Amino acid sequence: MAHTYEFFHVIQGYLDEAAAVVQLPDHVRAILAQPKNEVIVHFPVAMDDGSMRVFKGYRIQHNNLLGPFKGGIRYHETVSLDDLKALAAMMTWKSALMDIPFGGGKGGVKFDPRSHSTDEVMRITRRFTHALGNNIGPSYDIPAPDVGTNSQTMVWMMDTYMNTLSHADKNAQRAVVTGKTLTCGGSEGREKATAQGVLHCITEWARDQRFELEGKTAIIQGFGNVGGHAGVLLAKLGVSIVGVGDHTGYLHSGEGFNVHKLQEHVRRNGSIAGYEHGERIERADFFGLQADLFVPAALENQIGVDEARALKVRLIAEGANGPTHPDAERILAERNVDIIPDVLANSGGVTVSYYEWVQNRNSEKWDLEVVDDKLERRMKRTYGQVRFFAEERRVSPRIAAYCLALERLGRAYAERGIFP
Ligand code: GLU
Repeated sequence: MAHTYEFFHVIQGYLDEAAAVVQLPDHVRAILAQPKNEVIVHFPVAMDDGSMRVFKGYRIQHNNLLGPFKGGIRYHETVSLDDLKALAAMMTWKSALMDIPFGGGKGGVKFDPRSHSTDEVMRITRRFTHALGNNIGPSYDIPAPDVGTNSQTMVWMMDTYMNTLSHADKNAQRAVVTGKTLTCGGSEGREKATAQGVLHCITEWARDQRFELEGKTAIIQGFGNVGGHAGVLLAKLGVSIVGVGDHTGYLHSGEGFNVHKLQEHVRRNGSIAGYEHGERIERADFFGLQADLFVPAALENQIGVDEARALKVRLIAEGANGPTHPDAERILAERNVDIIPDVLANSGGVTVSYYEWVQNRNSEKWDLEVVDDKLERRMKRTYGQVRFFAEERRVSPRIAAYCLALERLGRAYAERGIFP
């Protein structure tokens, strides 16, 4: 882990690099270098013991040129304005890259949801949604799950939004959030969508490299929604998961974990701690494990210079946002470790969020096969576009992904001009 990591600064660096490659006009680069709106709210919530605590919540709206602001809500004790600005910008690049009619945004509340009861988390969510008021909306800004939030959080947000604003047609407001439960308007395939997208990227990479996935090994950092589903989907392809880790520690299994059991354990206990199989190892040893693939699926800035030198894998598929420090990326490039960058690798989540939003707006319910098939085609098409751009222009896949996003945004700015 690198000591200093200014996430927003790092993302700006990629923007500048890609803007130069595609010769993005300076004024467009200047617009995209900052979020449009930064909403910060403070709100009181009653705790179970009768006391009252004031929380700080954010919604950063980076860009809505191509469609409504779109992106997750993060509950974590480290949530900060700077990080959310970076994450909101990344959502703009993801939506533009995937060619879905959304912009980018990100929000969050600075607190540790693990140290609160379900009732407290519900009241925090409802007061936060109330405080955001009309700053969110199904045609304006559409939140989704992220680190520390899930489908239940989204349903509370939806319900609060519907009930606190006087809408004639409440059901039309379902699309104010995506990533909901199936009962309350969620889409088939949304929960596993991010991991499924990562898997499509991995299989495309393996096809290009003539790399047989069956019988190979992988390590996964973070075993929440993205990491857990990635483990299950990799196992289906015959890849064995030999190392896992989360905020509670790291585990190694030479023969490979039974990922279904591990996922069940995490569902019941909230983390991998106490899992009866595998041996406990140190964080540094995890990064040095002998494996073919690495899926970081936790927080940003996890792969610093030391980790880049230690990793023995051939491929890093970034399920998390911003897991690799730029200094580490240079070392990995020298060591011929491939990286499928976050804005491509984990964009399956926002893509199926878009499908959920379309279903809500049209009062439709699509079968899992329909969602899976659409996602697969879109991921593979975009993977191919990124790969082609990277080869043609001799840039990294990350810069290629940014370039494709910026080209789309640049064209829209050129056609629309700047008001008035
Ligand atoms: N939080 C996810 C992300 O970082 C999903 C966002 C969404 O579905 O809007 O991409």
